[in-house]
Amino acid sequence: MASQNPLAAALERVIDPASGKGLISARRASVPRQSGGTVDAVIDVSGLDADARDAIEQHARAELLGLPGVEAVRVALTAERSAGPRLIAVASGKGGVGKSTVAANLAIALLHKGIRVGLVDADIYGPSQPRLLDADVKPEAHDGKLVPVQTKSGVPMLSLGQLVAPGQAVAWRGPMAGKALDQLVDAHWGAAEILIVDMPPGTGDVQLSMIQKHKPAAAVIVSTPQDLALIDAERAIDLFTKASVPIIGIVENMAGYACPKCGEISDPFGQGGAEAEAARLGLPFIGRIPLSIDIRKASDAGLPDAAQFAGIADAVERWLNPSAAASF
Ligand code: ADP
Repeated sequence: MASQNPLAAALERVIDPASGKGLISARRASVPRQSGGTVDAVIDVSGLDADARDAIEQHARAELLGLPGVEAVRVALTAERSAGPRLIAVASGKGGVGKSTVAANLAIALLHKGIRVGLVDADIYGPSQPRLLDADVKPEAHDGKLVPVQTKSGVPMLSLGQLVAPGQAVAWRGPMAGKALDQLVDAHWGAAEILIVDMPPGTGDVQLSMIQKHKPAAAVIVSTPQDLALIDAERAIDLFTKASVPIIGIVENMAGYACPKCGEISDPFGQGGAEAEAARLGLPFIGRIPLSIDIRKASDAGLPDAAQFAGIADAVERWLNPSAAASF
């Protein structure tokens, strides 16, 4: 695509050190403008250090100047002001409600919308992202910081499950778990704008220290429609509210089951409970995901397709950027 336009192709030959992709594929630049012999290029260098920024600028300038008819090149470097990516916590009151599934699919759906996103699996009790995204490999470290693992889905990811043997993390006490979580968050996330954090279920010490130390910009709460899950979810909501972390909304997962043989819809966990709860608490209800064999199979195969989670990604995008997001 990009190679059809010589200006775009020139910038594609400049590699973004964070993603290993050309600047346009990495969404750091769009096709530069040319007027007469002058080319203007705007490059987003968010998350890169000074050396990397200089290298990109020089390389881009050289590539563009090498094109026939180009006499002068102006390169403008832009960067977000924030110190690092913003964190969006995906949380639930208890385990088994599909929090990790929602976190993975939400990250992928955001990526499909062109948002630079990473995924942190902080679920100490059952780190499942390495399996969900088929990336059960040990991450490397550079300069004392972990380098997120690239996954087939395109979302870079770090998980406690990649750092310890299965089952080991659960035995950790507060400070140890806290240190491990720090490593996951303070990693080489490069140009990621947001990190989706798959939180441990519940409201214990690990959750508290995560919230206090790495204060998320916002949280998404996942619940099944059952009363019991909803009571737990309310506790999780309370924890975030006390820490003044805004709630983007509640997702109802495993809502309604379509029988693959006869198509009849049944509601093994009830129906609409989370929506009613959201209304009661005055929180947005941002999506209902059915109990679906396809979702379970895609998760087990390590490549969630995320199509059913696009609406939730829209809600998150609208929250992140109310003016830019399309209204639905
Ligand atoms: P949690 O993170 O809340 O413990 P998981 O995301 O690990 O929950 O999900 C628990 C199990 O339920 C997994 O086997 C997962 O594949 C399955 N699952 C989650 N959501 C759905 C869904 N909407 N339809 C079918 N299976 C689901």
